[in-house]
Amino acid sequence: MITATASAAAAAAAVLAVSARWNWWRPKVGGLASLMYHKVGDHPPGSKIEKLWVTAKDFRRQMEWLKSRGYATLTFTELKNAEDGKSPMPARPALVTFDDGYANNYELAFPILAEMGMKGNIFLVWDTVGRHNAWHDPAGEPWLRMLTWGQVGEMQRSGVIEFGSHTVTHRNLAEISLEDVAWEARESKKRLEEKLGRGVLGFAYPYGAGAFVPEVRRCAREAGYRYDFSIKQGITPIPWDPASGPMMRLLIRGDDTMVDFHLNMTRGRARL
Ligand SMILES: [Zn+2]
Repeated sequence: MITATASAAAAAAAVLAVSARWNWWRPKVGGLASLMYHKVGDHPPGSKIEKLWVTAKDFRRQMEWLKSRGYATLTFTELKNAEDGKSPMPARPALVTFDDGYANNYELAFPILAEMGMKGNIFLVWDTVGRHNAWHDPAGEPWLRMLTWGQVGEMQRSGVIEFGSHTVTHRNLAEISLEDVAWEARESKKRLEEKLGRGVLGFAYPYGAGAFVPEVRRCAREAGYRYDFSIKQGITPIPWDPASGPMMRLLIRGDDTMVDFHLNMTRGRARL
């Protein structure tokens, strides 16, 4: 009897533990799933933020999951056209986004997206294109090669990748003056548009900072971006009302399982 009670208690504890780790019990939500990636590949020795590295194998598996479930991966322009009624809104729209603009996005993610006929969007940091991730402390994340303008141009011409802004310098927008916030948002948009020869619709707040500080967000949005992206976990309702807050995203972690991926895509989050 004691054994039966104990094992029932153990089973209940196990269910609770699993339910805390994987949020299968959350209601399913529809809307726009914006997946947030950073680095694709095997994390280098010495990386203290290895969870932000997703292996090429996992990335391919995740893209296959999207494709097999009928998700349409869009560029910012395709999303805008659908919102503006110039094209139909897909039943399951998704944005595959990459923050910062690492060379590994070109080397590993771009060929997979191109091969599978899917689309992605990369947020560039103007000052670091062709250089390295200067905003990281090399003690926590080694210097990494960033995309070159040649790679950016090739990806844009392919139609597979569209580019957004992640500011000029990757400063924390919640810690600088509003004048500097306005400059980061406006100047990066202007320079990217001149360089790329097309409009830049998307903006991602470095570290997600300031996305929910009304005056910071106002400064960023006044630069004229159609879409601004936070790092708040969730699926964004569509049609999206900018007044409701910045776009939410789904952080895809290197230690996620496909169960996590499934829960992210259907519930807006996998973990508590
Ligand atoms: Zn960043």
